[in-house]
Amino acid sequence: MRTITFIILHCSATRAGQCYGFERCRKDHIRRGMQDIGYHYYITRDGTVHAGRPLSQPGAHCKGHNQHSIGVCYEGGLDASGEAADTRTKAQRKSLRALLTRLHSEYPDAIILGHRDLSPDRDGNGLITPNEWLKQCPCFDALLDYEDLQPEGLFR
Ligand SMILES: [Zn+2]
Repeated sequence: MRTITFIILHCSATRAGQCYGFERCRKDHIRRGMQDIGYHYYITRDGTVHAGRPLSQPGAHCKGHNQHSIGVCYEGGLDASGEAADTRTKAQRKSLRALLTRLHSEYPDAIILGHRDLSPDRDGNGLITPNEWLKQCPCFDALLDYEDLQPEGLFR
């Protein structure tokens, strides 16, 4: 198995009420030249966890970090007017937490964070601040939301 240092969370950047299913996402990624869907897991609005790439293979979801990470995406991320928003349904929150709990027990040293948290640190102060985010993805604070599933010593 690969060494996993990050579990990176994404949104599909589709609107809250919009259907953008697993197969549709996979097809779009293949059309863009990837060999398969870029994520390892894709969670649709009904809370179903779809298995994408095998964990043994690197994904294609975060430039510069694919080799040593697991990519998880939820369907949504934009509100009705197209603005970045945490649109996770109750079912998605439940499935995401269950999945991350399982991954955390398998990879206890992996940091769970959002795509935006891996934006370049332009001012070099060691923190990725909102003004440095290349995009909003996944539109919520993953580090904080899953604080209890982070590696020992990261926050305490
Ligand atoms: Zn992303």
